[in-house]
Amino acid sequence: LVSRMRVFGTTVFAEMTALAVRTGSINLGQGFPDTDGPPAMLDQAARAVLGGANQYPPGPGLPELRQAVADHRKSHYGLAYDPDGEILVTVGATEALAASILALCEPGDEVIVFEPYYDSYAASITLAGAVRRAVPLRPVDGRFTFDPAELRAAAGPRTKVILVNSPHNPTGTVFTREELTVIAELCQERDIIAVTDEVYEHLTYDGVEHVPMATLPGMRERTVMISSAGKTFSVTGWKTGWICAPAPLVRAVQTVKQFLTYTAGGPWQLAVAYALREELPWVAQLRDALAAKRDRLSDGLRAAGFAAYRTSGTYFVQTDIRPLGFTDGMELCRRLPELAGVVAIPTQVFYDRPELGRHFVRFAFCKRDEVIDDAASRLRRLQ
Ligand code: PMP
Ligand code: GLN
Repeated sequence: LVSRMRVFGTTVFAEMTALAVRTGSINLGQGFPDTDGPPAMLDQAARAVLGGANQYPPGPGLPELRQAVADHRKSHYGLAYDPDGEILVTVGATEALAASILALCEPGDEVIVFEPYYDSYAASITLAGAVRRAVPLRPVDGRFTFDPAELRAAAGPRTKVILVNSPHNPTGTVFTREELTVIAELCQERDIIAVTDEVYEHLTYDGVEHVPMATLPGMRERTVMISSAGKTFSVTGWKTGWICAPAPLVRAVQTVKQFLTYTAGGPWQLAVAYALREELPWVAQLRDALAAKRDRLSDGLRAAGFAAYRTSGTYFVQTDIRPLGFTDGMELCRRLPELAGVVAIPTQVFYDRPELGRHFVRFAFCKRDEVIDDAASRLRRLQ
């Protein structure tokens, strides 16, 4: 393995899921739902396979999906993207993120990330030979946010990209229009491109609405907007994502993407195109169900002695373990199967400065109610 990648080892998700399987623990670590997406969409995927949609789709993605994405962007956000040239289908958001960074960053260029950040960001930045500048999100009145002065201080002459994930994994923060405006102004002042990870765009709660960066004044032309069907339609294993951006940016990303994977799986694309047209009511129900699950798990965690932060979006509740007398989340997560029969994710792995997140642990609530209840009652053994 090349030296610059050695530090990455195995992802925390693989480690913790293996730990859950090995110990028979309830897995509230890796974020994946334990129920399926809309039945008619699953049926469309089966029909696509049996109907012969099994050879290479075109590199940019099947026209059916690109058109469905364009129509959805327009009706949902009022954003117009040309399906021929401004939309690219990718193998999940993960490939979209990697291809975008590889396409936009020269070795030595800098990428601003908000820490804690989703783990693939650091690896993709490193693969590109670029350098991270991490801006911390800290809890203020129970919600994670950033200090605009710290953000400004992170921008320098070599800053090429800022990666913005909202709704944010792992903190559950949904950036407000005001927060996004601070970022947008910096992008325009310093000629920075925003790569936005919006995989949880539909999973926001309590009436909090997701605001895409590209809808802010002056930002459509400098934003690579990334989405994925995995979270929206509860099919994380389908690995079907897409980017929307101005044509020159899409061409750049596609140049890289075509040599990573050439194209993305065809049957899933047809089924996701169908779902974007027909299944948004199903997504609205999912969102309501997840809001209730968030409450269920947050209450359960508080009853077990954790301090639980407010989650406005995503699958996750962020907790502070110090009220239980623990100080190191990694140590606790490695012992949690034996102590309580539950697996969670130590948030410190998402930091450049792990000390900032040492006492945080992330729990996923995208699970059946009985699984959440069982986990919550097991966690009461910690007291
Ligand atoms: N970004 C974030 C913030 C995520 O939580 C995830 C994982 N679901 C991804 C990207 C990866 O998405 P995909 O599975 O579509 O590659
Ligand atoms: N996005 C999911 C999470 O944060 C898992 C993704 C993965 O396994 N790489 O839990």
